[in-house]
Amino acid sequence: MIGDRDVLVIYDERVLLHRPEAEEAFLPGRMEKRIRGILDGLGLGVDTKWSYPEHPGRVTAVNDLLLAEPVPGVRMTSGQPATREQLARVHTTSYLESLYELEGKQAWLDVDTTAISAGSLDAAEVAAGSAIAAVDAVFDGSAQSAFVISRPPGHHANAVRARGFCLFNNIAVAAAHAQFQWDVERVLIIDWDAHHGNGTQDIFAADPSVLFFDTHRAAPFYPGTGDMEEIGDGLGEGTTVNVPLPEDAGDLAMVAAFENILVPAAEWFKPELILVSAGMDAHRSELCLQLSYDGYSALTGIVQRLADQHCNGRLIMALEGGYNPDTLAKCTRRVLEVMAGGEPAVPREAGMEEVAEIAEFHQSAFADME
Ligand SMILES: [Zn+2]
Repeated sequence: MIGDRDVLVIYDERVLLHRPEAEEAFLPGRMEKRIRGILDGLGLGVDTKWSYPEHPGRVTAVNDLLLAEPVPGVRMTSGQPATREQLARVHTTSYLESLYELEGKQAWLDVDTTAISAGSLDAAEVAAGSAIAAVDAVFDGSAQSAFVISRPPGHHANAVRARGFCLFNNIAVAAAHAQFQWDVERVLIIDWDAHHGNGTQDIFAADPSVLFFDTHRAAPFYPGTGDMEEIGDGLGEGTTVNVPLPEDAGDLAMVAAFENILVPAAEWFKPELILVSAGMDAHRSELCLQLSYDGYSALTGIVQRLADQHCNGRLIMALEGGYNPDTLAKCTRRVLEVMAGGEPAVPREAGMEEVAEIAEFHQSAFADME
């Protein structure tokens, strides 16, 4: 029943400080020229307003819904900034230095329109630090599971590069912290965002202590990686599992991927902690994949079951993508219901139930015609 379990939700308003605005001045330079060119090429010239898709309204929508319609068992708390030392466990010193040199400025970081504004590093530190706080909470016993509602997202950022609206790889920072601080030997990272978590994969590709499982829309969809053959490198060969899907894949395909690929992988790996890169852009309203709210509920049920079996319930979700604030909020709430002890939905092929009922309604009419 919903409320049978306690879930810690970490939400900190400092994550709202990250807000690049296209109309304001960016640091002049080559990157600025290239991005302006790209935006113009998209038909978004100076007279058309382009707004940064990864905006504060995403997470305020989630927070507003959870305040208006609280989930029993869910407890809210604020986060904390990550330290440079904690970030440097997965990012190079030179990358961190180059980012911090831009502190207080507005600048483009990558041609795929990733940018920072004056408050971005504060926001990004809190996003990564909140994931760390979640790890501490599940290991010091103050929570069994946690959900981090934060931004900027993290899974496209690798050790040396910001990409896809991501600055620090929050989930990777959390995994590294669990290993460093709590002596965790095996971490399972599940990434159900519609986009491949290329950054997380890069960071742990050669690391056999982290099993990375990622369902996503197949290349050439952004970021263009995540082929089935990408299985990890060196000692990490076999601990990267990619499930690239066609754009019309929905609940049944995703549930099958989790039951038939993730579950046996987890049985084999025996994780001590499960982290989820919880992108909500696989929902059908985002036009990437075709997941429904029930689909998210069902996937959470599988993940929670694995956490109970292998990790004494230790499960942490951190928000990644999801650009329709309404859908993002509703998906998050459905996920939290299951984490809080609710029964996961059993997804069906959409419309089948209705067709059966309607067929019954019409049946007698056609029988009479004989
Ligand atoms: Zn995404």
